[in-house]
Amino acid sequence: MDKTKNFSEWYSEITKQAGLCDLRYNVKGFVVFMPWSVSSLKKMYSLFERELEATGHKPALFPALIPEENFLKEKEHVEGFAPEVFWVTEAGGEKLEQKLAMRPTSETAMYKMYSLWIQGVSDLPLKIYQSCQVWRHETKATRPFIRSREFHWIEAHDVFATQKEAEDQVKQDMNTTEKVMHKTLGVPFIYFQRPEWDKFAGAVHTYGADSLMPDGRTIQQPSTHLLGQNFAKPFNVSFTNEKGEKDYCWQTCYGPAISRIYASVISVHGDNKGLILPFQIAPLQVVVVPVQKKGFEKKIGEKAREIAEKLCGHGFLAEADESNATPGFKYNYWEMKGVPLRVEVGARELESKEFVLARRDTGEKMKVAENDLPKKVGEFGEALSENLRKRADEWFSKQVHSANSMDELGEQLDKGGFVKVPLCSVEMSGHNCADEIKSKTTGDVRGTRFHPEEKPAAGAKCIACGKPAKELVYVARQY
Ligand SMILES: [Zn+2]
Repeated sequence: MDKTKNFSEWYSEITKQAGLCDLRYNVKGFVVFMPWSVSSLKKMYSLFERELEATGHKPALFPALIPEENFLKEKEHVEGFAPEVFWVTEAGGEKLEQKLAMRPTSETAMYKMYSLWIQGVSDLPLKIYQSCQVWRHETKATRPFIRSREFHWIEAHDVFATQKEAEDQVKQDMNTTEKVMHKTLGVPFIYFQRPEWDKFAGAVHTYGADSLMPDGRTIQQPSTHLLGQNFAKPFNVSFTNEKGEKDYCWQTCYGPAISRIYASVISVHGDNKGLILPFQIAPLQVVVVPVQKKGFEKKIGEKAREIAEKLCGHGFLAEADESNATPGFKYNYWEMKGVPLRVEVGARELESKEFVLARRDTGEKMKVAENDLPKKVGEFGEALSENLRKRADEWFSKQVHSANSMDELGEQLDKGGFVKVPLCSVEMSGHNCADEIKSKTTGDVRGTRFHPEEKPAAGAKCIACGKPAKELVYVARQY
C-alpha cells in the first residue's frame, strides 16, 4: 500500500482491510458502513452537534419524504435537484396520489413548517439542525464515503429577521467548520465563494470549503449558503415586524457531510501502514498488547487487562488484545486500523513496573511508570492529534500555485493542488471561459477565496478569453 504513489489503490485497499465498509450490498451506489467507521462517524457527529448547539441551534427530525408540491415551489431549487431525486410513487400496492421525494436535502420539507411556526419577531432567530441521511441519484462514479447515492450529514437551517444576521451566520458556519474539521480533526481547507454557475440551487451565494486529497485533487467539504429571501417568499416564511407590516425572513443553510469528512480524515492522515485516526474520534484509543513469555502467561495477561481497565476508568477507550496472534502481528494489525496509542506488557515490565507507550503517528516509544500511564496517554493523544494537523497544514500550504496561461495551468494541475489564475468574470458571462478551462485542462473553477479576498494583478488578462481579468480564481481537479 503506497499512499503517495497510488492513492486511489491505497484508498480502496484501506477501506477494505480496516473493515470500514462493505461494498457488496445489492443496490448500486449504496454501501454498508461497518462498526470501525461508524464508531468514528458517531463521534464526529457529536463534535459538530456540540458546536452547533453551542451557537444556538436546536435539534429536530423532519420526515424523509417530501411531497412533490413542496418540491416544486422554488424554481431554481427544483431544476437543480430534480435530476437526482429518488421518488416514491407506490405504497401498499397502490399508486400514490402525489409522488413523494426521498429528501435530497430538506429545505422544502422544513420551510413548509417554518412558515407555520414563525409569526412575529419573537419567533426569530430560528436555528434548527438535523442529523440524517439524504439520497441523491449521483451519476458520477461513486466511492465509499467520498460519493454515494446515500450520504450521512447534518443540515442546519437558520432563519433571521435581517440580512445582516444571515450574513453573520454564514461566517459562524465557517467558524464551526474551522473548529471541528481543522482544529480537532486536522483537515485543512479553503473557503471559496462559488461562481454564479456553481451555486447551490436557490441560493444567493454559496461558500464551499475545499480540501485536498493526497493525489492533489480537491474534495468539497461543508458548504454554507446565503439563501436571502429566495425560499422565504415561495414558502411564505414571514413575520410581522414592529411596524405591523409583513416582512419576509432571511435564511441560511449549512451542510457538513459527516461521511465525506471522514473520507478526508482517513486520506489526509493515513500512511503506508494504514489509518492514523485523530485521538478524539478513534473507536479504540489505546490497545494494550501482552508480549507473552513462557511461564508468565497468566500474570502478563492479567496485567494487560488491569491496565486497559484502569485507562477505561480514566475515560479512555482502551482494550487488551488477548487473541492468540503474535505481538508483531498485533502491532501491525492495530497500526493498520489507526489506533493512536499502544501499551506493551512483557515479563520485564511486570518487574520494572514501567511500560512502553508507542505512538502511531511518529512511531515514538517511551517508557512510562504504571501510575503515570493515564496522564501520559492523555498527553500523547493530544500531541498526536496536534501533530496530524501540523503535518497536514504543512503539506496543504505547499499546494497552492499560480499560472498565467492555459498551458501553465495544465502543467501545474498535473502536479496537483490549487492553481490561481486570472479570469474575466465569475458572473454568468464567465461561464464560457470556465468551460474552456475545463475542456483544455480538466480543471474546475472553484471560485474566489472568501478570506482574505484576493484580486488579480493590475493589467492581468483572463487566461481563457484574454479580456481584462476582474477575478483571481482557484482552479483544481475535483472529486
Ligand atoms: Zn474570460
